[in-house]
Amino acid sequence: MLPDYLFQKQVWFNLQKKIFNSKKVFLLLDYDGTVIPIKKYPSLAILSEKTKYLISNLTNHPNIFVGIVTGRSLKDIMSIIGIKNLCFAANHGFEIYYKKQKWIHPDAKNIAPKLKQILADLNRELKAVEGTYIENKGLSISVHYRNVKPKYVPFIKRTLKNVTSLHDSSLKLTSGKKVFEIRPNIEWNKGQAIIKILKLQRAMGKSIIIFIGDDKTDEDAFRLLPSGSITVRVGRNKSTHARYYVRSFLEVHQFLKEIIFVRKKGRQKNDWQS
Ligand SMILES: [Mg+2]
Repeated sequence: MLPDYLFQKQVWFNLQKKIFNSKKVFLLLDYDGTVIPIKKYPSLAILSEKTKYLISNLTNHPNIFVGIVTGRSLKDIMSIIGIKNLCFAANHGFEIYYKKQKWIHPDAKNIAPKLKQILADLNRELKAVEGTYIENKGLSISVHYRNVKPKYVPFIKRTLKNVTSLHDSSLKLTSGKKVFEIRPNIEWNKGQAIIKILKLQRAMGKSIIIFIGDDKTDEDAFRLLPSGSITVRVGRNKSTHARYYVRSFLEVHQFLKEIIFVRKKGRQKNDWQS
């Protein structure tokens, strides 16, 4: 089914009503390409003061729970965002952090030493390919090729396949926007991580669940979240499992502002009251 444009008049009216009437809002956000535009290098993807303010406003609101669900490592995303009261599902959900409690997927822990070896191999094998950026994320490795000449991309992919296959079936190779990733070959993804968070927070029932993402790995969450959730993909994509789409990260910001606005109304009297 094609997703609906979130700000289409009737669609948006119904969504506002839904957000207004729910007891609590559980808002889960991907980071790169969703909260901020994709940058040439991941290290440039810092949060502007304005966006930081917007996210802080959401987290300070009673009855809005905010979580960031990202492929980045926990250390990385926490240092970029620097906002308290946020929940993080990092490394595609292999690491979860909330209120000083940290959880790491037990099977992923064992793979860290293998990844260390692979990292050394990759640094050696891909040294000559200009523009490659290899990122060590502890429980996974990302190889970014946004700045690599297209003719070298198959070589990178082949090298990754070779290096990964040397280490039995405990690792798998996945891809995203201009990035290859080596991850633990464990049946675990952003969607399962979000469900774990929601269960811990006893979110099922009267709450409304919102998840916004822009890439392949976010599809697992679009697919797995309970029906009735507001799932939003950034950018129009026919093959998405998301129910809605927005055109860009700027419309994500717009949506976040509207959530605050609608919830503020929720604390006053309003004609949406049912
Ligand atoms: Mg993304």
